This record gives sequence, C-alpha cells and structure tokens, in this order.
Amino acid sequence: MYNVIIIGAGPGGIFTAYELSNLNPDLKIAVFDSGHDLGSRHCPIDGVKVKSCVGCRSCSIMSGFGGAGAFSDGKYNITNDFGGTLHEHIGKKKALELMKYVDDINVKFGGAGTRLYSTAGTKFKKLCIQNKLNLLDASVRHLGTDINFVVLQNLYDELSKKVEFFFDTPVREVKVVDGGFEIYTDDEKYTCEKCVVSVGRSGSKWMETVCKNLGIRTKSNRVDIGVRVELPAVVFSHLTDELYESKIVYRTEKFEDNVRTFCMNPNGIVVNENTNGIVTVNGHSYEDPKLQTENTNFALLVSKHFSEPFEDSNGYGESIARLSNMLGGGVMVQRFGDLVRGRRSNVKRIEEGLVTPTLAATPGDLSLVLPKRILDGIIEMIYALDKIAPGTANDDTLLYGVEVKFYNMEVELNDNLQTKYDGLYVIGDGSGITHSLSHASASGVFVARDIAGISE
Ligand SMILES: Cc1cc2nc3c(=O)[nH]c(=O)nc-3n(C[C@H](O)[C@H](O)[C@H](O)COP(=O)(O)OP(=O)(O)OC[C@H]3O[C@@H](n4cnc5c(N)ncnc54)[C@H](O)[C@@H]3O)c2cc1C
Repeated sequence: MYNVIIIGAGPGGIFTAYELSNLNPDLKIAVFDSGHDLGSRHCPIDGVKVKSCVGCRSCSIMSGFGGAGAFSDGKYNITNDFGGTLHEHIGKKKALELMKYVDDINVKFGGAGTRLYSTAGTKFKKLCIQNKLNLLDASVRHLGTDINFVVLQNLYDELSKKVEFFFDTPVREVKVVDGGFEIYTDDEKYTCEKCVVSVGRSGSKWMETVCKNLGIRTKSNRVDIGVRVELPAVVFSHLTDELYESKIVYRTEKFEDNVRTFCMNPNGIVVNENTNGIVTVNGHSYEDPKLQTENTNFALLVSKHFSEPFEDSNGYGESIARLSNMLGGGVMVQRFGDLVRGRRSNVKRIEEGLVTPTLAATPGDLSLVLPKRILDGIIEMIYALDKIAPGTANDDTLLYGVEVKFYNMEVELNDNLQTKYDGLYVIGDGSGITHSLSHASASGVFVARDIAGISE
C-alpha cells in the first residue's frame, strides 16, 4: 500500500517524485517504469555491427529512468509559446514560474555552468520578419546530452533514498477502488491513495486503453510530420551561437500552411527514434566539445490535425513513417539537390557531398514518402531559411525522413490535471498537454503540490 504511485519515470514522473518527497517526506511513494534504470539503458545501434533499430523489447532511447529525455539534447525551453499547452490549465504565469523552478533544480543537480540562451532583444527577430519568418520568444537552457545524464544520475541518487523504484515493470492496468486505486503489473497488485500517470509518448497506446477502460474522455491531437535537416554547423552558427535553438515559423505561399523548425542541435548528431516499432528520426548534441560534430541538425515540421470523419492523426503519421520504413528499411536520407531534381540519392552521391551524415540511413527519395503538400512546404521553407542562413538550400544539405512528432490523445482533465476520478492525475506528454522536457517536468511539480495540499 502506497500513498502515491507514479507510473513513468520520465521528467514528469521524476519531478512529481522530487517535489512530493521534499514537501512531505512521510509519504510512501513508488515509481514504476517499463524501462531500465539509467545505467542499464543502452541502444544497441553502434553504427558498425548494429546499424539500424533491432526492436528491443524496451527501447532504451524512449524508456527507463529519465524517460524519452534521458538521451535527449537536454534543451529546457522556458516559454508558453511552444512545448505544450500546460498554461491553458494552470495559467501562463504559473507555468513559467514552474519551468523556472525546474531549471533551478537542474542547475543545482549538475547543470551549473551550462548556458541559458534567450531571444530577448535579439537582432534576428527583425531579420526573420524581413524574410517572412517568425522567430518565437523563448529562453532555453541547453544541458546537452552529457550533462543531462549527470543531472538525471544525481536526481536518481537523491530520490532513491526516499522513493521506491520498480524498473522493467510495466503497469498493465489501473483500477479504481474505494479509497484509491489498484495498480496491476505482470506479477503483482499494488494499491495507492493517489496515482499519477506520466507515461509519455511511448505509453500512448496504453494510455488510450486506460482511458477507454475507465471511461475517461479523450480527444484527438495533431501530428507533426517532416524531415530532419543536417548541414555544416557554420551555416547556422550566427544564430546558434547567440540563441542556441531558434524556433522559426514560416507560412507557405502555396498552401498557407505553417512549417516550423524544431529541436535544433548545433554540432549535434542525428539519431533513430523507435515509437511502438516505428522508426523515425530525431537529433541531439553534447555539451562536451570533444563529442561535438561539424554538423548542425534541426527538424522542419508541418502539423496535421484530423477531426471529422477521420480523427486518427497519429495513425496518419504512422502510415507515412511505415512507408518510409518499408522503402528505406528504417530512416531514409536524401540530398536537397537530389530532391529538387526529382531523383533519389544513392551512396555515391551522399559520399561525394560536402556534408558527412552523422546517422547511417538509407539513401532514397523522400518524394515517394511524404505527401506533396507537406514536401512542397518543406522545400519552400528551406529556400526561406536560405535567406537568413545562406547555404541552407545547398545541394548537399541532407534531409532525413521521416521525422514525426506523435502527440498523445488529449486526456480530459480539470485544471488540477486530475481526471474525473479524485486522486487520478495524468501529466506530461502522456496527457497530450505537454510536448517537452520543461512542460512535462513543470506538470509534475504542479501535481505534486496539489497532492501535498499546497494551493497554487
Ligand atoms: C531523442 C529525443 C530528443 C529530445 N530532445 C528534447 C529536447 O531537447 N527538449 C525537449 O524539450 N524535449 C525533447 N524531447 C522530448 C522529451 O524527451 C519529452 O517531451 C519528455 O521526455 C516528456 O516527458 P514525460 O515524463 O511526459 O514522458 P517520457 O519522458 O516519455 O517518460 C515516460 C516514461 O513512462 C514509461 N512508461 C510508459 N508506459 C508505461 C507503463 N505502462 N508502465 C510503466 N511505465 C511506462 C516509459 O518507459 C518512460 O520512461 C526529446 C525526445 C527524444 C526521443
């Protein structure tokens, strides 16, 4: 019997446990995660013996202590402009306050000395507007994959003294009973008074089942589809040196769709991501200069939201990713020059190019995978970015596909992030409300304070 059970040890779950165990050390708290402890998380892809995803039972990139954030770039964006809609529930001021609080904790647990970048007062805002690009406002703490890992390890060392962790223990079912909840794993049943579900994107299908079984309403969310761009770091260095990450939105002339940059990784690497068996692409970078590359990567994404009569936005994104997996055996890569000339890339053309790929992907033709409307938007945006960062539209710029950002169905929650069942909270990316490290972590702090009876 626990006072509180937290399902999922990603940033949402970690910050719930952290805040709750500090506010009320007498509480008996357990955290369950289907993935491994931090030290046991290894992706077998080494680029030599194992070149592509082998479909591990628990994906070490997505699951385990630290959640999807463990090998991320550790970019904590402090903003309400992107990264989720937490502010719609708790208010903009509170959301920012909690993101700053999370930043302080990250700094305290190993992030000291990392840089906090900001768009405030930047000259790039004007340059972007002059070229029909909109640079969004944000502050971003870049921990880097290496320091992010140190912060997580330090947080775990602190938390493990106060909280019980169950790794490699997927929760199969949540039942509502008198006075609380029953949590079922493969072998055991546990009970708790309050339950915080924070299962992230990897738990999206399970979350849907839980909501269905418990009669909790959900609504469809959007899906973001696009490519990851990789180019020489010098092309974007004037922007990345000052802002690190620039979130830029472009409205296409042809379809009036919004295309945006996402997850910019100066001197970073491109990686595979496996969500429920579908291999897509992502990126990150290290703070340690020794681990940095000469390339910068970022995603270009277009949002699609289906509601009537078809409402499965994720299913649409999955189908496109499956098509790319079918044609490329995983992630596909194409030179921008080949794409605009309407021909596939091959190994020779990639090898002869100026940009050395940081991910071993299959050379192919993205126009056979991405819908025309999305691809046209991406091409238009690459030419628009070329005006503020000349070289973006070079022939040798690499495009990896596909990058898909799946968002969970949005779970019906009140403003305390509680379901219709008193004491059953859903937070982080699993709620469909957050899509980032900072928002997911802030939602954890918020709920911990609610459980501890601290009125916000
Ligand atoms: C490669 C990569 C790079 C990224 N880079 C950034 C970045 O730089 N900045 C940024 O803001 N965001 C980034 N993100 C996104 C960010 O990682 C997520 O937004 C964030 O981790 C969400 O936190 P969460 O706690 O809600 O969920 P998650 O981090 O996904 O954690 C959920 C946890 O729940 C566990 N779980 C799932 N189902 C069950 C179950 N049934 N039982 C028990 N446990 C379960 C999972 O194993 C997982 O550990 C990145 C993501 C990836 C994959």
